[in-house]
Amino acid sequence: MDEINSYDDALNRLDEITVKYKLDKKDVEILKHPKRSLIINFPVKTKSGVKIINAYRVQYNDALGPTKGGIRYHPDVDLNEVNALSFWMTLKNALVEIPYGGAKGGIKINSKEFDEFDLEQISREYIRQIHSFIGPARDIPAPDVYTNPKIMGWMMDEYNKIRSEHVPAVITGKPVLIGGSHGRAYSTAMGGYIVLKTAMDKYNLDASSTKTAVQGFGNAGMNISKIMNSNNMKIVAVSDSKGGIYNENGLDIEEVIKHKESTGSVINFSGAKQISNSELLELDVDILIPAALEKVINTKNANNIKAKMILELANGPVTRDADRILNDKNIIVLPDILANSGGVIVSYFEWKQNLQGLKWDEDVILDKLHKRVEATFNKIYENYVIKDKVDFRTASYAHAIISIISAEKDKGRI
Ligand code: NAD
Repeated sequence: MDEINSYDDALNRLDEITVKYKLDKKDVEILKHPKRSLIINFPVKTKSGVKIINAYRVQYNDALGPTKGGIRYHPDVDLNEVNALSFWMTLKNALVEIPYGGAKGGIKINSKEFDEFDLEQISREYIRQIHSFIGPARDIPAPDVYTNPKIMGWMMDEYNKIRSEHVPAVITGKPVLIGGSHGRAYSTAMGGYIVLKTAMDKYNLDASSTKTAVQGFGNAGMNISKIMNSNNMKIVAVSDSKGGIYNENGLDIEEVIKHKESTGSVINFSGAKQISNSELLELDVDILIPAALEKVINTKNANNIKAKMILELANGPVTRDADRILNDKNIIVLPDILANSGGVIVSYFEWKQNLQGLKWDEDVILDKLHKRVEATFNKIYENYVIKDKVDFRTASYAHAIISIISAEKDKGRI
């Protein structure tokens, strides 16, 4: 069953919510189809010759505003994955009540096979291909897996050249000097930390005595490890695409970061045992944070998960069938559309600052982020989790789906 692709899995969850919340199937139908999908194949002259690049941009639903979502560079990118990611973005933006629909983009490349010059050519050509599709009031991209502020800077610059004007609000997650927002670099992790702490308070988990394992040590995973460690929470294991490390007494995350910067990976960090990515997920910890890719917790390993709480910083790390097993084991899953919403919330602040020509201080951003994430958590917890006795994913999905359908009706479309 876990061989199912993430998009079909997501649509099956939509069907479950439709039944549970007695929604009209005719109303929900609009959420089963991406509004607009662009599939592009274009040549780029790289140092090792001409490469044909396969890429996508899907604008899933725009009932609540211009579509918004990141761009991923990964060899596994395909239309199904981009559909799933853009669907989740639609729900996430509705859940946190920012005035956006959902979108996602992807380029099917292994970015480690290209040097910076080639990556810049590919990134700029992607924008030349999709420029008429995007814009501050149309569709606003951002970073995702294996993309970063530097790439967002190139993309904005290419868009500006095509338009012959400065349009910083076309893309978020840019370097701060050229229109990026303070705090955006670690906002996904900070939002996740706020969700986690709020949930731990509700379920009486004491931060100082918990052990945490984090899968993925990039923007999301590295930053949450750093934030938790600096708040005296013990991170016993971390991993990246090359493997993981484990020390039951806790890792010094600042030292792990230095090691990763100098060697390119967390593996071979001194004073820690080498473990595999699958071993990390099954460790005897209190908190598990998948912060890499989809479907890593599935029916093959869900029964072996020992954590009490899972914070989904990655998008789609738990399959629907695995969710059922985790629910039966009373493991609390804080779902992606809630747990990693800090990134798009600060992207929204960046877009607002760009449209107004302002730069907010970091403490203003953090305060606004904190309030919005906490308010979202409490809204979901009180109005659905407690009232309807449902899990956090059902609660978050239900709120988002009901909002999007209402917006479609308000616009007179359905
Ligand atoms: P990133 O490129 O900065 O980091 C990805 C990390 O995952 C790297 O450490 C990489 O080595 C590791 N990784 C890759 N393949 C792996 C594998 N098979 N097993 C274990 N680790 C592996 O990406 P990111 O921005 O941190 O994104 C991570 C997840 O968070 C994604 O699911 C993404 O969609 C989600 N997310 C990111 C943001 C954001 O603002 N960056 C926002 C919301 C959600």
